[in-house]
Amino acid sequence: MTYDFDLFVIGAGSGGVRAARFAAGFGAKVAVAESRYLGGTCVNVGCVPKKLLVYGAHFADDFEQAAGFGWSLEDAQFDWGQLIANKNREIERLNGIYRNLLVNSGVTLLEGHAKLTGAHEVEIDGQRYSAEHILIATGGWPQIPDIPGKELAISSNEAFYLKDLPKRVLVVGGGYIAVEFAGIFQGLGAKTSLLYRGDLFLRGFDGGVREHLKDELQKRGMDLQFNSDIQRIERQDDGSLKATLKDGRELVADCVFYATGRRPMLDNLGLENTGVELDPRGFIRVDDLYQTTAPSILAIGDVIGRVQLTPVALAEGMAVARRLFKPEQYRPVDYQNIPTAVFSQPPIGTVGLTEEQALEQGYQVQIFESRFRPMKLTLTEVQEKTLMKLVVDADTDRVLGCHMVGPDAGEIIQGLGIALKAGATKQQFDETIGVHPTAAEEFVTLRTPSR
Ligand code: FAD
Ligand code: NDP
Repeated sequence: MTYDFDLFVIGAGSGGVRAARFAAGFGAKVAVAESRYLGGTCVNVGCVPKKLLVYGAHFADDFEQAAGFGWSLEDAQFDWGQLIANKNREIERLNGIYRNLLVNSGVTLLEGHAKLTGAHEVEIDGQRYSAEHILIATGGWPQIPDIPGKELAISSNEAFYLKDLPKRVLVVGGGYIAVEFAGIFQGLGAKTSLLYRGDLFLRGFDGGVREHLKDELQKRGMDLQFNSDIQRIERQDDGSLKATLKDGRELVADCVFYATGRRPMLDNLGLENTGVELDPRGFIRVDDLYQTTAPSILAIGDVIGRVQLTPVALAEGMAVARRLFKPEQYRPVDYQNIPTAVFSQPPIGTVGLTEEQALEQGYQVQIFESRFRPMKLTLTEVQEKTLMKLVVDADTDRVLGCHMVGPDAGEIIQGLGIALKAGATKQQFDETIGVHPTAAEEFVTLRTPSR
């Protein structure tokens, strides 16, 4: 049987573009369909614009700290419209780069909504295409709980295009997006409350990290309300929003921002025309080779709900392209020790096991910890502290986890990810010469276990 394409990728986001480009590079005939925006979530309404807004918010700290170094700044002004316009221009530039990347690698780009019409067939705008393999890389979409007035709330999708910076914001959720956007709004000058339904946000992160960030955000004046959840939202006569909490309290704001997780994007995808099954959480079920329950159809990235991070989607896309078209180069994705950062203010960087996970897994754990005032702040009034923490297996001396809250945590943790992947021991950390004077050197000078 001959097909129009060897591989048909649905979704030109992080995972889809990587798989399509590399498959084409390996000689396959490849098409990719995209219904919304080239580059997907990360480029358009995720990592990239988020990081630009974080940089924008960070200037507030820089201006405050500058005085300690002799600078005086006259009444700094911030223009949200300017930031968003500049951000939009950069995203358009990146969209163009993604288009060129695909076209220059020989991939056929089809702009439109793709619907599966069979195990080897996809329909776009009434036109049907056949393919030996189909890869679903359709990503995810924000999920807002079904409460009265939910249509008055926004998600990250809308936050990137707000006309004005709201004066008062309620951020709901306790994951990456909630913590990052609370920092953006607060840094840019909005009165920000973060509402989380549990005792402490960032469930799954190291307990010490969660507590430390809580303290630092409170020092910055962020209103953290744990064990709080909204029951309904109403528009008031003056245009503001009133949120009534489950415990009866009422909060008033100009914007209610929900970051309560993301569902897989399966809208009108036509899965019913295939044998593709979902897992109990509603994500596409795949095996270790990203094969769905329909043998010709694969799925990667956020739509399979494993680890919703761009570098993971990239690695999965690469694994699929290699396995199908360059099997001699195939290597499975290593889901152990994935480094990650939360771009809060201050940011978190983490790789490996948390103290709690190490204990649960039965390790005899040694904890090395340091809390210190970053050197840059010593000439300022700012009392922010950095936390660095190592979780070590006392039996083998292997470093199981590295955790940090403080400036440049994401940049610092990337290198430690390599050390953990290589199985580094605490002794090897100790024998590594530090870079002085940096915060990062603290990770190689932690001598005495704190417990
Ligand atoms: P996506 O990038 O979502 O791409 C899916 C594409 O498929 C989209 O372009 C969509 O339009 C298209 N599509 C969907 N259905 C169809 C259809 N039927 N036909 C045609 N096209 C279709 N990760 C990090 O690692 N670091 C970060 O700092 C970070 N920040 C984030 C901030 C925010 C606010 C959000 C929301 C996410 C962030 N992420 C971050 C997560 C990251 O964006 C995702 O993990 C990543 O984009 C997943 O890639 P993907 O290829 O699975 O899907
Ligand atoms: P997360 O899954 O990280 O967090 C969702 C949060 O919402 C949790 O605190 C959860 O609470 C809470 N929640 C879930 N359902 C409800 C509900 N019905 N009512 C109230 N609260 C609820 O999702 P995000 O939306 O923050 O982000 C999605 C994913 O995108 C992240 O997990 C991450 O993988 C990726 N991402 C990565 C970033 C990065 O790398 N820097 C940045 C942004 C996103 P509970 O813990 O109690 O379940």
